Amino acid sequence: MTASRPKRALVVGAGISGLATALRLSQIGWEPLVVERAPARRTGGYFTVFMADGFEPAKRLGVFAGINDRADPQGRFLEMDRRGRLVPAMNPAAMTGAGPQSYTVLRGDLERALYDAVHERVEIRFGVGPAAIKPGRRHVDVDLTDGSTGRYDLVVGADGLHSTVRELVFGPEDLYRRDFNHVIATCLLDRPVPGLRGGDNLLVVDTRRTVAVQAFHDHDPVAMFMYCHQWPAAEIRKRPGSALREVYGDFAGPVVPWLLDALDRAESTLFDQISQIHLAAWSRGRVVLVGDSAWSLTLYSGFGSSLGIAGGDLLGTLLAEHGDDVAGALGTWEHRLRPEVTKHQKSAHFAKNFLLPPSMPARLLRRAVVRTAASRAGGRLLQALLPASRATRTAATTSKNRIGGSV
Ligand SMILES: Cc1cc2nc3c(=O)[nH]c(=O)nc-3n(C[C@H](O)[C@H](O)[C@H](O)COP(=O)(O)OP(=O)(O)OC[C@H]3O[C@@H](n4cnc5c(N)ncnc54)[C@H](O)[C@@H]3O)c2cc1C
Repeated sequence: MTASRPKRALVVGAGISGLATALRLSQIGWEPLVVERAPARRTGGYFTVFMADGFEPAKRLGVFAGINDRADPQGRFLEMDRRGRLVPAMNPAAMTGAGPQSYTVLRGDLERALYDAVHERVEIRFGVGPAAIKPGRRHVDVDLTDGSTGRYDLVVGADGLHSTVRELVFGPEDLYRRDFNHVIATCLLDRPVPGLRGGDNLLVVDTRRTVAVQAFHDHDPVAMFMYCHQWPAAEIRKRPGSALREVYGDFAGPVVPWLLDALDRAESTLFDQISQIHLAAWSRGRVVLVGDSAWSLTLYSGFGSSLGIAGGDLLGTLLAEHGDDVAGALGTWEHRLRPEVTKHQKSAHFAKNFLLPPSMPARLLRRAVVRTAASRAGGRLLQALLPASRATRTAATTSKNRIGGSV
């Protein structure tokens, strides 16, 4: 290892966090290699609210111009009551504190913008992951599943909730995963939902089970099924179609049965449990976790994508500032990021009960809140009271110091 050659990093995972980290590392003069287990770049994906907190990091990375808001300004927010009637509702993203500046996108939109910026500067190998990671004091040796080996100054595990890097270096997932006992299934719909106008967003909220349709102004909608389950790890081993029919099969009316059929037709479906990751430290020596592998906020927080981008951006910035002191950079990075992550992990617990009421009283309380919010004054009052919104406002005022201050 000589001081003159560029530092080398292995970035595991070509999702939002991995691509953002690789891009920033290449911008500071490092030589990252990205390995991605999937055979090709993922496209589409579920809908994502991209919070304004991610805008500045995305601008610094030079990718913001490639991200477009797909929200339909004329789109209505509706809920379906038990008799199948559509009633006006509040935007559920308000529960996560999404401000008017947030963008509604597909996860693939963020990945595409990052990929377009990174793929000509950084080698990306698809269909490959780490087989063994051997951390040392001055470098990390890694065997990859394609049989190749390499020596790196830093290994970045950006490989999501079920991270292999975490498993290999920090220990089994069970030590760090905190399950919500919720299951999610989501897919892109291949045509508009019968009974809804283009641009209509729909929530069907029942006790312990919810269905959502998210509309876009320039794309077919996305469906999401969320439900409580005592044994989510076992549940997600079932075929999504049959698991969902066991849970939602008794829904009458045109919409939910149609959505179940649409899920069967979908080219790809995400079917997973909803869990957070809690680690006492996000790095060990020269191995660091970024994004869902480190902190998985869950969809309920609404900040996973923006903190994935902000986390990768800040990591590169601090590595540049600290020069050869990689440990110092990693320590400062975690110190700066940890309060934001903790806040959003907490706010997810509030939002989850709103989107998926765990009991009949919780559902009735939720209905009262939604009715209050439907009025202008009630909506303002609610915004003032919501912990998630408060968390976001605090984050907005402090993020300059914590996340974006040095860049
Ligand atoms: C349904 C749903 C809705 C959501 N909605 C929102 C929202 O509205 N707003 C928001 O901010 N966030 C939302 N999130 C969360 C957000 O999508 C995630 O926080 C974000 O995508 C995490 O990105 P990541 O790159 O850290 O991980 P991932 O997206 O999980 O990417 C990990 C990558 O690593 C790859 N990989 C895995 N294992 C290996 C391996 N062994 N070797 C090589 N590669 C590997 C995977 O194939 C993948 O490409 C939502 C999540 C879900 C599931």
